[in-house]
Amino acid sequence: MNKIRVRYAPSPTGYLHIGGARSALFNYLFAKKYNGDFVFRIEDTDIARNIKGAEESQLNDLIWLGIIPDESPLNPKKEYAPYRQTEKLELYRQYAQKLVDMGVAYECYCSEEELAEMKEEQLSRGIKSFKYDRHCLHLTKEEIENYKKEGRKPSIRLKMEDNADLSFHDLVRGDIKFNSSEFGDFVIMKSNGIPTYNFAVVIDDHLMEISHVFRGEEHLSNTPKQLQIYKYFGWEPPKFGHMTIIVNENGKKLSKRDNNIVQFVSQYRDLGYLPEAIVNFLLLLGWTSSDNREIYTLSEAIQAFDPARLSTSPSMFDNHKLLWMNSYYLKNIDNNRYFEFILPFVDKNKEVSSLSIDRKKEIALIFKNEINVGSEITSELNNIFENNNPLTDEENELIKNALNKNLFNEVANRLENLEVISQESIKSLFKETQKTLGIKGKEFFMPIRLALTHSEHGIELFNIIDILGKKETINRLLSYQNN
Ligand code: GLU
Repeated sequence: MNKIRVRYAPSPTGYLHIGGARSALFNYLFAKKYNGDFVFRIEDTDIARNIKGAEESQLNDLIWLGIIPDESPLNPKKEYAPYRQTEKLELYRQYAQKLVDMGVAYECYCSEEELAEMKEEQLSRGIKSFKYDRHCLHLTKEEIENYKKEGRKPSIRLKMEDNADLSFHDLVRGDIKFNSSEFGDFVIMKSNGIPTYNFAVVIDDHLMEISHVFRGEEHLSNTPKQLQIYKYFGWEPPKFGHMTIIVNENGKKLSKRDNNIVQFVSQYRDLGYLPEAIVNFLLLLGWTSSDNREIYTLSEAIQAFDPARLSTSPSMFDNHKLLWMNSYYLKNIDNNRYFEFILPFVDKNKEVSSLSIDRKKEIALIFKNEINVGSEITSELNNIFENNNPLTDEENELIKNALNKNLFNEVANRLENLEVISQESIKSLFKETQKTLGIKGKEFFMPIRLALTHSEHGIELFNIIDILGKKETINRLLSYQNN
């Protein structure tokens, strides 16, 4: 068998989207499973939509996820370069010319307006999917001359065969039937000399010796058009697999405008999702193991991956599951990996950022089993240090009661005399104070928590005291005492 070569071929029109990351992941898994190559190349022929920096950020995000291309514009193989379509326009032109010379493609001088009219006219006859009427298929020399004189520049259209079978076996969906007569002659080279997607992708896949293509379902109806081109050139097409759409919790196709779902990998990184959790989540977004196992490292996923188990029904993007997955990974990664990941989020709190690295690590560890995503550690620390939520009447009442019972004074005094601040020493300090004052439970803990953080929720109280330190804790408690 020839070497397995797959590719992820984004248009550089934005950041790496979760749908794109999923396509990249499945191609990558397939390549690595069979010792193949995973190629990253750029489809940048829709020039108006290209965004500066998009290629770089997409590549960086993939690498961050651990989906590392064997070849890319930055890491090209000579025999397959270039990896950006706009750098090979001349090549596409030559291949298009070959098709013209073979008589299976032809110049089309129709203007946008004429095409729009043609569409209108077909619509008025109830034809919804427009087919080019072949007006330019048999132009005379004279007609061509006249068009040229008018200053028209031709596009090139592929002449679809009449009634040819363009069916194929889809790796995900099984046999898919198409006939060439379902499609009109479509443009392969625009009049500005830029190829269309359906043409350029065939040339690229062929010249790069791509063996398998896993891509989104939205490309299903492009495949027969591409197969027609392969057929004319006499090239063997790659094997195609079209993955199902991703839907939201309401069963609607995920749209980039869906505000309930964070859409871009970089946003997840900023929120403090671990790349290994995102990869694991994406794996289950359209693929199931034979034993319903859920947790996979990337290398385990490579071992286990079987394209036959790609799902054929839409995959639901479940936010809660992703959050759960991330907290699972946060709890289970070893401490070194945890520190490497979490310290940037710890440093976003200015009080903690000035502490020693060892102290930062101690504080970070307090949260290892508490948080779901990295950014929560920043907000938890900010809450602890800012301590400025307004208190409700009920909360003020609790504090008043505590003051009447001398709770804050008592705790502050005992803390003052405490040599070592630790979980144990604070716990036993609490016990003794409870005994002395005769209060316990919520009546004891809640006022202290409120006095220290102005919040009824958060991590264990002894951890809050540990983080604030003895002096700050005492100050905060006594500030109420003095009011
Ligand atoms: N640039 C195309 C896309 O982003 C790639 C399609 C393909 O994989 O053939 O959808």
